[in-house]
Amino acid sequence: MPELASPQPVIHALQVAPRQVLRGHEILQSSGEAMAQLGKRPLVVGGDRTLQQLTPLLRQLGQTHPLNLDFASYSPDCSENSLAQLHQSVKQHQADVILGVGGGKAMDTAKLLAHQCQLPVVTLPTSGATCAAWTALSNIYSDEGAFQYDVPLSHCPELLILDYSLIQTAPQRTLVAGIGDAIAKWYEASVSSGNSAETLIIAAVQQARVLRDILFQKSPLALQNPGGEDWCAVVDATVLLAGVIGGLGGANCRTVAAHAVHNGLTHIRAAHHALHGEKVAYGILVQLRLEEMVQENQLALTARQQLLKFYQAIGLPQTLEDLGLGEVTLAQLRHSAEMACHPQSDIHRLPFPVTPEQLMAAMVSTTLLPDLSRETAETAVKVVSGKGGSREN
Ligand SMILES: [Zn+2]
Repeated sequence: MPELASPQPVIHALQVAPRQVLRGHEILQSSGEAMAQLGKRPLVVGGDRTLQQLTPLLRQLGQTHPLNLDFASYSPDCSENSLAQLHQSVKQHQADVILGVGGGKAMDTAKLLAHQCQLPVVTLPTSGATCAAWTALSNIYSDEGAFQYDVPLSHCPELLILDYSLIQTAPQRTLVAGIGDAIAKWYEASVSSGNSAETLIIAAVQQARVLRDILFQKSPLALQNPGGEDWCAVVDATVLLAGVIGGLGGANCRTVAAHAVHNGLTHIRAAHHALHGEKVAYGILVQLRLEEMVQENQLALTARQQLLKFYQAIGLPQTLEDLGLGEVTLAQLRHSAEMACHPQSDIHRLPFPVTPEQLMAAMVSTTLLPDLSRETAETAVKVVSGKGGSREN
């Protein structure tokens, strides 16, 4: 009788939080000591513009602490090619710590580079647009910016520096996008994990609800007073609490259709100027539309109406037009829907099957009013099936 191979042990390692978080106004200037404890030869990884902006400040830090800094751009994207080049930069500089500065893609690149080179990583987010400075996960894109796959990392960053003064210099739009990305946690986690009996997953889903409520309450005031108390609370919510939920809930309670729609949209070139959180925010509306259309879920309709008001108040996109995709062709829309529905897509964590046709119908009806729902939904189905009013070139 052939010997049975012993089953591989399943390891459920938790990566809940960074080892240390420093936060405050102008906290970067006082973080040299913490950074120097991790390494003396940081390779600073960021986008071209961020590097230009931050080099003087970081060089100053290098003068008061034993830090020998070098700088490397991740341009054109957080892609396999960029990472291969950055490996050379690590070698040339003999870097012993990676410092990621910038938005989500800079964080993702720095974290993955550090993971591959087995070096510690420090994250310094320059906007409140994502929780990438916190999490043990990196997304990989093509050089052209199309989403490829994500990579779970062995741990969260060693040090996260949350400098409110720095984040305040970012365009307001980035924090609005961060609100969209963070609020998605509730709509996605409650669907994928709302029935879980696992203690930490229950905790994560409840934290996602708390996060949503904080954002509902504080975002409009926060955006009127950048740098103020509410504004800092919203930044904490988008950069830190959103990360806590990812850490507690792990892969099981991360993303469902909202992020799958985002991933699909990254395959349309015209969508590249829209920020991650903007596409995700739109994706939440699409997810709720699917729940309404397929399950006749009235709670989803109520939630969508509530979100439409909130989006209106803070300036998040509600439609393809708002995302700058008013001229998208039917073929492009179909391609993006097919990418969002591929077999490994998180869209299949919805409790019902979804076809690209259903997804397209949801994508063009995110602002549909209840009293018109039947008539307009039928029009939408006709449009996507090419039977009427097609926008295909
Ligand atoms: Zn996201």
